[in-house]
Amino acid sequence: MTYYVAGYDTEAIYPWWEYGDRPYSAATYREMVSYEGARLDECLEGVRAVAEVHLRREAPATFFIVAQLADAAGSRLREILDHELFELESHSYTHDNMIAIRDDAAAVRRELVDSKRAIEDLFGREVIGFTAPGGFANGFVGETRLLEAVWEAGYRYVRTVSWQPNNMAPAPLTQPFWFAADGYPELLEISAHAWHDNILTGQPAATARPPAPPAGATHTPSRPRRRPGTARRRCRGATRRGSPPPAARYTRHTRPASNSPATRGC
Ligand SMILES: [Zn+2]
Repeated sequence: MTYYVAGYDTEAIYPWWEYGDRPYSAATYREMVSYEGARLDECLEGVRAVAEVHLRREAPATFFIVAQLADAAGSRLREILDHELFELESHSYTHDNMIAIRDDAAAVRRELVDSKRAIEDLFGREVIGFTAPGGFANGFVGETRLLEAVWEAGYRYVRTVSWQPNNMAPAPLTQPFWFAADGYPELLEISAHAWHDNILTGQPAATARPPAPPAGATHTPSRPRRRPGTARRRCRGATRRGSPPPAARYTRHTRPASNSPATRGC
């Protein structure tokens, strides 16, 4: 039996196409993102469009919300998403890179604990799920400090794997797994696939088609090979050179003139 679980990161509209070769980081994300004005309205229209599809089909979905968005548009988000079909979980507070901040206890607490509390206060529901901004090919496997913070904050499942091992998107169809090897046998990983992240939004970078391994296959993330403190992988879509998707896929935004890497978050 195969299940498809619809989950959406719910964050912000940002003009990644205006940022050329600049690599993704939490700092560039903060610079790009706006939680006000037309960009906020556009973001909420998108959330509403997705929600309405699910409501029409009576299909459940999970929305992982960046708490900054909840701060900016709480009542409007509640009007769109406060429905029994929808599960409402956390996608951090500021969309920071969790592995990059793993040694900063205050920053980790803000992303995990404060975001959970903000979303729980907004919707009056318990938050038990967390999607790591950007995602990683190996997720939080081996990230014992982060896993401890996740567990202590009260999360019981996470989505931290959302890349191919070669830093391309979409990610393989990874089977859910428990973080037993890292000492958290009751913390579940339900990995993201993110097939839409580059293909539907028309971003020219970091897209590999078909996914590897081919659809229908599964894989389990390997133990991380990187040493502590070494550079982390890029966010999906960031600074990866490759062939852009067909122009016809660029239905929403104007593609950059060159095949320059895009700068984005996810
Ligand atoms: Zn995101």
